Amino acid sequence: MAITQNTGQESNLTDGMHVVVDALKRNGIDTIYGIVGIPVTDLARHAQEVGIRYIGFRHEQQAGNAAAISGYLTKKPGICLTVSAPGFLNGLLALCNATVNGFPMIQISGSSNRNIIDLQQGDYEGLDQMNIAKPFCKAAYRINRPEDVAVGIARAIRAAVSGRPGGVYLDLTTAMLETIVDKGEIEKNFFVTKVPAAGAAPSPESVEEALTLLAGAKRPLMILGKGAAYAQADGDIRAFIEKTGIPFLPMSMAKGILPDDHPQSAAAARSLVMENADVVMLVGARLNWMLNHGRGKHWNPAGKLIQLEIDPVEIDSNRKIDAPVVGDICSSMKMLLAGLAKHAVKAAPDWWTMIEADKKKNDAKMAEKLNKLTSPMNYFNALNAVNEVLKNHQDIYLVNEGANTLDDARNVIEIFKPRHRLDCGTWGVMGVGLGFAVGAAQTTGRQVVTIQGDSAFGFDGMEAETICRYKLPVTIMVFNNGGIYKGDSPNLSGGSDPSPTTLDPNAHYDKIIEAFGGDSYFVRTPDELKKALEAGLSSKRPTLINVVIDPSVGTESGHIGNLNPKVTGTH
Ligand code: ADP
Ligand code: MG
Repeated sequence: MAITQNTGQESNLTDGMHVVVDALKRNGIDTIYGIVGIPVTDLARHAQEVGIRYIGFRHEQQAGNAAAISGYLTKKPGICLTVSAPGFLNGLLALCNATVNGFPMIQISGSSNRNIIDLQQGDYEGLDQMNIAKPFCKAAYRINRPEDVAVGIARAIRAAVSGRPGGVYLDLTTAMLETIVDKGEIEKNFFVTKVPAAGAAPSPESVEEALTLLAGAKRPLMILGKGAAYAQADGDIRAFIEKTGIPFLPMSMAKGILPDDHPQSAAAARSLVMENADVVMLVGARLNWMLNHGRGKHWNPAGKLIQLEIDPVEIDSNRKIDAPVVGDICSSMKMLLAGLAKHAVKAAPDWWTMIEADKKKNDAKMAEKLNKLTSPMNYFNALNAVNEVLKNHQDIYLVNEGANTLDDARNVIEIFKPRHRLDCGTWGVMGVGLGFAVGAAQTTGRQVVTIQGDSAFGFDGMEAETICRYKLPVTIMVFNNGGIYKGDSPNLSGGSDPSPTTLDPNAHYDKIIEAFGGDSYFVRTPDELKKALEAGLSSKRPTLINVVIDPSVGTESGHIGNLNPKVTGTH
């Protein structure tokens, strides 16, 4: 490898930075989300020069969230670019969140000089980034030489999308970025990584076992998770459910694999089906806290379990899995579907009689809540207004975060298409909203609507500027009840400071978007809300609607108040 001084004269010479940009482009990367600064500013410039879209954010966490959701929607790793130490650390939360959720992304950060960092001699933004990243992602790599760029990027892409997808950290040293190399030498060893479209098939025996168990079930149930949505096996999943007549429950991001108004959705009879099912087939859903670890509340301890899962280590993680089907859901569903020719799998009519009665009862209760008008609005009548509008716009992507805003929107807002609901995910985090909105708008070219609590919006609200700068068709709704959980909690000292959960119920979040040239609305009634949302959708312009919600209506921690420590002592 010829390494020479950078004289800028010889046209057969290039540098590590250009090699990285060309390698990203040739590996099909079409977008980079990031924030520039030392030492990656030129990298973004040259990426833009070669036709990669660069979207510059105001905080790296949101650039990372945009990359993560792009990975979820496309099965290709989204790219987040950051500067060294602080930018790197700001991005790390999104990288970790992507890994926990199984979203493929690569955080690429520039880093300062190894020799100074390793001897802890105090470099500008000096931090041992690669080693710090390791516990927060699936894999972490550093490229030290331009001739390793092809392999480094191949490893990063492969690690992000293979098996259970996740976040990968890729460290680019300043020294590597400025190393001069001969173009011909780089070209000799260059390659583009080939990632197969469908992953590994499960063993035929495991599929037989699963079908035998299902054929013997009287009250079968399918639970669809975001792994099923990610796999994009939508047609086969639907065909299997419709052929067998099995009721299904979608986890929140799996809503829309089959439309929420599908007659076989058991969402409105959730507790009943979980408590009574004798065989449950999990399709890309972990038995984590969101499913009470498969053993707590609402689970039939005598029920049998089938699990379709890419990661063999996940099986038996919380409870015995009677029939593990380890493989890519695309292959597994195809094999299960083909196996129906030999196995009589059918949900019994009396199972459906039970479910229908429960659905009817619960739907009536819900309708009462939705239609009861209050002033100020509560979550239900406001969300009902939103749902009435969005029903006529089934192509939009919905981003949802908050506490009560999340819980209630999950139940009220119907989703009709796969991967059209993007939310707080496995951790139940806030602070993903506008990053997801930008990522979804850029990746899909469609309109995006967010429903965010006023607290959630605080974590990512500055990206309203990003949305305006790139003229993205995003309508932001801030459900403002003036607080975390609720706005009317007292200061226990009796003093005049706001309580720990108090935010400003009179805030005009709508003014924020005005600063950047977007459209703003401040609404107090369901009618005003509908009109504002329709206006945002038809203008396709960046829009923010401040939705005034009664400060007294939220519940502490939404539906998961039980997770708070039970504090019973006194001072
Ligand atoms: P949810 O939160 O919706 O219940 P989880 O994130 O808990 O979903 O579970 C998703 C599961 O799907 C993960 O265990 C992941 O390994 C698995 N998964 C992701 N992609 C695939 C795939 N293509 N085939 C099979 N399983 C997958
Ligand atoms: Mg709130």
